[in-house]
Order: sequence, then structure tokens, then C-alpha cells
Amino acid sequence: MDTHSTEDPAASPVKGTIVNLLLKENIITAKQLDYAVRVRSKIISPKTMIATLVDLGYVTLDALQEALRNNRVNIRLGDFLVELGYLREADLKQALGMQSESKSKQRLGEILVDRGFIEERKLLEALSYQLGYPLIELTFVSIDRTLLSILPLTICQELEIIPVRREDSMILLAVSDPLDQSLLDRSRKYLGDNVSIAIASKESIRNALKALERSANQPVLSDENTIIGMINSLMDEAIQDGASDIHIEPLKDRLRVRFRLDGVMHHHKDFPKEIAPQLSTRIKVMAQSDIAEKRRHQDGRILYKSHIHGIDLDLRVSIFITIFGEKIVMRLLNNKTSLLDIKEIGMAPRMLDHFIYEAVEVPTGVMIITGPTGSGKTCTLYSCVNYLNNVNTSIITAEDPVEIVIDGISQCSINSKIGVTFEETLRHIVRQDPDVIVLGEIRDHFSAETAIQAALTGHKVLTTFHTEDSIGGLIRLMNMEIEAFLISSTVVCVVAQRLLRRICPECSEPYIPTPLDLSRLNVTVNDLVGAEFKIGRGCKACRFTGYNGRVGVFELLVMNEMVKNAILNKRSSYDIRKISIETSGMVTLLEDGLVKGARGEISLNEIITDLPRLGKPRSLAELRRILGVIE
Ligand SMILES: [Zn+2]
Repeated sequence: MDTHSTEDPAASPVKGTIVNLLLKENIITAKQLDYAVRVRSKIISPKTMIATLVDLGYVTLDALQEALRNNRVNIRLGDFLVELGYLREADLKQALGMQSESKSKQRLGEILVDRGFIEERKLLEALSYQLGYPLIELTFVSIDRTLLSILPLTICQELEIIPVRREDSMILLAVSDPLDQSLLDRSRKYLGDNVSIAIASKESIRNALKALERSANQPVLSDENTIIGMINSLMDEAIQDGASDIHIEPLKDRLRVRFRLDGVMHHHKDFPKEIAPQLSTRIKVMAQSDIAEKRRHQDGRILYKSHIHGIDLDLRVSIFITIFGEKIVMRLLNNKTSLLDIKEIGMAPRMLDHFIYEAVEVPTGVMIITGPTGSGKTCTLYSCVNYLNNVNTSIITAEDPVEIVIDGISQCSINSKIGVTFEETLRHIVRQDPDVIVLGEIRDHFSAETAIQAALTGHKVLTTFHTEDSIGGLIRLMNMEIEAFLISSTVVCVVAQRLLRRICPECSEPYIPTPLDLSRLNVTVNDLVGAEFKIGRGCKACRFTGYNGRVGVFELLVMNEMVKNAILNKRSSYDIRKISIETSGMVTLLEDGLVKGARGEISLNEIITDLPRLGKPRSLAELRRILGVIE
């Protein structure tokens, strides 16, 4: 059996037990392993051998899991976690030290989870690979309560275990620590020897036990109050987590609930499939949709008063028919998207000055904010509107739908169901004598034409667009058959933006760019002098993701004569981009991202994968000077 080495993970043995298993099972070849060893030796802060093999594409996570499930590996739990890359060698050492010092001989797994060295889910996953027991998700109705006549509830509560169901002649028993032999012995006294083990998290066992206790004398399936309670607590949990969307998806065997947090989907919980009809009926009642309709897509709106959080939540509901039933998505419109001061949206000092004084405060013309869905453009749009909002200005909006209500302006939510269409609203909007018009989105020739015409007649128009970058916004307008001279004479600025995840400050560590990072960014080490990149290791505060919150990355193009001329002459997007960078002080999304990465706010990995890499970025020193960023 392996002993614990004292070196850092980089130096841990190349040929661990799992690597040998992959070789033995012919999942990787010796030649691939040699190559991976060479690659790994060239990296300054290398990952584990397994992670390197996965990165190189020699083994997929599925194949790895399959191999681990089919073969018991004879290795200590701690070493196994380190080799899988779930735990750092240094943390293991510390935990083992704590274990030998503690008088009560706490179990290693318990120490690792309690100290936040590993997420319980990851630990259970590894145990499941190592021991070959299935990992199960407990839900209240999936438990066969007749088994409690054999293993009494009080014993289950004491041992924190649950008999789940009969499988042929076996009884499936859920435990959170399958290595605890005394616990298994005690349960066998009641259940006999025909017990098969399944692993479940402590929390899910405790929750299921509580539910079993509550319902001790009640019928199994939930009455209407329970369903209402479930939906309400789901919404409260979403508010608590700061989720932007709740997804309730029917799968083959269960109803899966996921939250979108900081733009990324996270599994939240599962419900038993049996309650799907009641759940969707109740949501349809709340959303004032047609409860009899089960075969067509529908949408609706829910206003939910959260007593726990003391807020009124506005949810946009979409019901979509899938082959397994109705998938329900609820978007939380006003959850934590509070109105931001324009100075807080995340623009660098010089860019912000440029934006406010040469774009937002200019009395006429079109301002375009562009980016994909979830890039934060609505937030930026609202902060501009808020900045312009005063008693001497008349502001009117056409939005689909209104996402934040601002005092003192006239906001209209498009509702085509009752005939309030975008076209109809735009026709009426200019007759309302506005100074500032906000169009939620330019989506076709008609809305583009309306925006341009309103600007030509002396209005200020704020709108959003769906393009990759700022130059793309201009090109898209041309492609909508808007005359080049109309674009050059009305568009004041185009802002492109993205939201990248903020590295968790609680667990961030220095990160040194690899040669691969540098080549993908098209920069040299000299270009990055003064940079302090970071990476999030993962901790309790960030749910072990290494990220917490988000950071806006911007590309601001304020139109000048040279750029206008380039548009008039219908130059290529490459030329327009080059002229904008050279003459207008424009910093590209990639460049702004690099500056923010160099301060340790966002990860190099997200900069490389999420921002358009359209040319060689300038040096960090030069970019900091242009943006007025002092380090
Ligand atoms: Zn963290």
C-alpha cells in the first residue's frame, strides 16, 4: 500500500494506481502515457497525471469512471482522492495530522469535509468508485416505508441510515459512510445479511428522515398544501442563492431541479417523477396559464411575495413540452439585479469617463449595447437610463419585458398576446414627446429604422443588439439594409460586453500562465510584465467552484471622423476594427479582460475561452496606461 509522500502534488508519483489500471485496461497506451509525462514535466504548475491525461484527450471522464466502477483499486482513500485530483496532497497531509492528534479518532472523510478540503459530493463519488457501491439521490416518495417495520425509524435516526427499497431478495440501505463497519453490523442485526449498500449524502439522509417522521401517519403522496410549500421553498431557495433561473426538467426517472447561478447551471435537487402533474398544474395556476393544456408550449408570469426574504419576486414562466413531459423554466426578473450606478458597472476609469462624457451625455444619437444573452447588457442599459433620469428629461421605453422598474420614467412591456406588439408600440412612442427613447432590443429592419429615424429627429436612443463585438454591431446594422451614411451620422457609440466569473477572493491562489496560455493569447511573457494572475482553488464560500459573483468586461467604441469615414466607404470589418483601435482609443474585449485578469479578478482560462480573440493584444503596461488603471 502507498505511503503518503511529503512532496507537493506536482511531484506525486507519475504512475499511480489509477494510471496503472488505465494501462491494464488498455484505455491508454504506454506511448500516450510517456507523452503525457513529457508534457507534464514542461508545465510550471502541473495538474495531476489523471487530469493531464484527460486534458490531452487520452481518456474521457466517462471511461475513467467506468474503469473505476468495474475494478476495485487497492489504495487508501486519501491517496485515491489525491490521484483523482479531488484533493491536494498538502491538505491530505494536514488532515492526516489532525486525525492522529484527535482523541476521538474522527474519520478521515469527516475531517476532509468538515475542514472544507473537499466537497461531500466529491468524497461520496470517490467512495462509490472505490467500493463499487451506487451513489443514490434520496427522495421522499422513493422510500418504501414498509421497511420501517423491520428497521425502526428511531434506529434509522440514531445511525443516520435509511432502508430504501427491496431489490429482489436484497434490501437497499442508504448510508453516508460505507466504511463504518460498526454501523453496518448494527443495521444487519435488524435487516439480516441480505443488505446491499448505497451511498447518499448526510444531508439527504437527514432530510429524508425528517420527511419520514413528519409523514409517519399520512398517505404518501403530497396534498396540495405540500405542493404549494415545495414551490414556495424552491423560489425562496433561488432568491437565497441569487439564482437567475429555475429549471424544472422531467427526466426519464425523476424531476430534476437546476438553478442558473452566475450564468452557470447547477444541480439543486430532484423531485419524484410522480408529483410532476401536480407541480405543473400549480405553477400554471400561479402563472395564469391554461391548466388544461398539456400538449402545447405556454408562458406566463408569477408575482411571488417572499415572506422569508421580504421581497416581491417577478418571475417569467415558460412551459415547454418535451418527450418526458413539461419542462418549466422560471426566470427571476428582479433577483439581485438591483439598479447599478453607472460608475459601478465595472468600466476602467478612462473608459468610463469617455463613455459618460462622449456618449451617455450627448443629447442625440443612437447608443448601442451589444453582447450575447446573459452578458449583462440589460444591466448596463438600465444604469445609463438611471444616469439620464431627472425631472427635466422625458424618458420612455419599449421593453420585452420590463425587467427593472425605475421611478420617474414611462416603461412599456411588450405583450403581443393582447396586441401590444413591438411595431405598434414603436409607432406610438415618438408621439409621446420623449427626449430619450429606450428600445429593449433591435431585432429587425423595422426596429433599426425606427431607432435611426428617432435619432435623426433629435432624440437620444438607447438600445441593445445581439452581436459578438462592437464592430459586429455596426456591420449588423449595415446588413439590415440601413444606409451607411445614416449609420455614420446617427450612431454615437457601440459598447460590447461580457460577464465573466469573478475569482473567489476567499480561496484565490497565484497562477502562472503556461506556454500554451501565452500562445493562445498571442502574447509573450514580456507583454505581461506586472501581471498577477490568480486561480480559485474552491472553498465553502464559493461552493467549491473557485468563482463568486461576476465581473463586466467591456469594449467601447465611440465613433470619430475616421471610423465614420470607414463606414461611409464600406470598409471591411477588419479595417474598421484596426482604425477604431488606432484612432479612437478603443480597447478590445480581450484587452480589457487581460487587464482585469492581471489584477486577479478573472481567470486566464475564461479570458481565453469566453472573449473573442481577433488580434494580438497590446502589452499590459500600454493597456493600463490607455485605461487609466494604476497598479
Ligand atoms: Zn472560494
